[in-house]
Amino acid sequence: MQEKWFCENCQTVFEESGRRCPQCGSRRIREVREDDLAYFCDKDALWAAVLEDVFRQNGVDFYAKNLMGAAMTMRAGLAGELRRFYVRFDQWPLAKALYMELFSAESGDGQEE
Ligand SMILES: [Zn+2]
Repeated sequence: MQEKWFCENCQTVFEESGRRCPQCGSRRIREVREDDLAYFCDKDALWAAVLEDVFRQNGVDFYAKNLMGAAMTMRAGLAGELRRFYVRFDQWPLAKALYMELFSAESGDGQEE
């Protein structure tokens, strides 16, 4: 099994690729624990509300906070606000499955093989 690492600075989980976090370059990395709140995704306010609902309904242990910042705001487009999600590491598979279910419709139809 591939070891997973956790950055204490930005809470990203990653596979070992040196001694630094690939996201923020921090050296404060360690092996991930099951109860770590790991960075999951960024969503604009509209989708964030939907995602939070789905997580709550399914008992996912998560944490979300608003992101402020000009660059983020520009990328978020209409909603103008992003929420960053963190999910308990041992619930990642569940969160990922719910996420895929929720946002698979977003990519449009006719793409299936
Ligand atoms: Zn980091």
